Amino acid sequence: MTFPTATISISALQHNFARVKHYAPKSKVMSVIKADAYGHGVIAVAEALKQSDAFAVARLSEAVSLRHHGVTLPIVILEGVNTADDFQLAAELELSPVIHLSSQVDLLSSITLVQPLRFNWIMVDSGMHRLGIRPEDIETALSRLTASGNMNDEFGLMSHFANSDLVGDIRNQHQLEHMQSLKHKTGLPVCLSNSAAVLAYPESHLDWVRPGLMLYGISPFANTNAAEHELQPAMQLTTQLISVYDINIGEQVGYGGDWSAKQASRIGVASIGYGDGYSRHLSNRSEVVIRGQRCPVIGRISMDTICINLTDCSKASVGDEVLLWGRSELMVEEVAEYAGTIPYELVTVLSKRVNRDVI
Ligand code: PLP
Repeated sequence: MTFPTATISISALQHNFARVKHYAPKSKVMSVIKADAYGHGVIAVAEALKQSDAFAVARLSEAVSLRHHGVTLPIVILEGVNTADDFQLAAELELSPVIHLSSQVDLLSSITLVQPLRFNWIMVDSGMHRLGIRPEDIETALSRLTASGNMNDEFGLMSHFANSDLVGDIRNQHQLEHMQSLKHKTGLPVCLSNSAAVLAYPESHLDWVRPGLMLYGISPFANTNAAEHELQPAMQLTTQLISVYDINIGEQVGYGGDWSAKQASRIGVASIGYGDGYSRHLSNRSEVVIRGQRCPVIGRISMDTICINLTDCSKASVGDEVLLWGRSELMVEEVAEYAGTIPYELVTVLSKRVNRDVI
């Protein structure tokens, strides 16, 4: 068997998609599958989520790859299509680059594409000040894009919340008001809600929602986990115990001797490390589950291995499964807290060396 393995559950992905529809029954769904579907494997995820009304990725290269794999749904490219060649390629493959900068409008006004782009989204900077055209400039951008002849008449307005994980934060209300006002002025459909807003901010659902994280069965809120929203983790990360041995009181474990035994201890070594994307920030902080029991990760995370204190799990033996995250015994949200990061990062940075097993 190959390990470590990220086991990806199609039924969990589909269950989570159904939860999006449960929360936002009247909205169309643009499923966010960028960054290899948050590390879950984009081709399998695109197939599992084909009831989506559209997919969103971050880069042109991601969209091209999806088309080459036969994905025919609308594919929205959230950022960075900035050259004539890139727009031509997008037009040829019927991809939908988001317009988020006035220089893109200038460019599209000065070239002729092989065919008009379809399914055209303009990103509005409603308050995050990352990507987007300011609300007061949207109507001009729209009329220039229409006049360019490079876009058909299917337009929509998109924006992104900066603080949707902070439920009730007034800044979310300000962003929503900008988008409601533009919807009123232009009559165009609006797409605003990411996962946190899908789950906690129904007024923001509008015409389209754009969830990522919740599709993978992960909570976007601090100090909660997927179970509280009836989401199912789509990824279980497991590996194997490859060594078990006993050490004496005072002996140190791993690089730098960062952990030393306060009593005679049993130590296990599991086959995963930062070379697989298992964060080095989990050194001396995380836990794993072996034979249903939580065991602490001790010492520094190495490139290929982690050490585990098995003293209270004395039956553990070489070949046992080690759960890193993804079941109710240990969810990725908790591991992200140990690492001082967000679960988005933990799942996205898993390396190619981790076997993906789709079930
Ligand atoms: N829309 C944009 C522009 C994003 O950058 C992201 C995620 O980073 C999403 C939607 C999906 O957000 P989430 O994964 O929190 O649902």
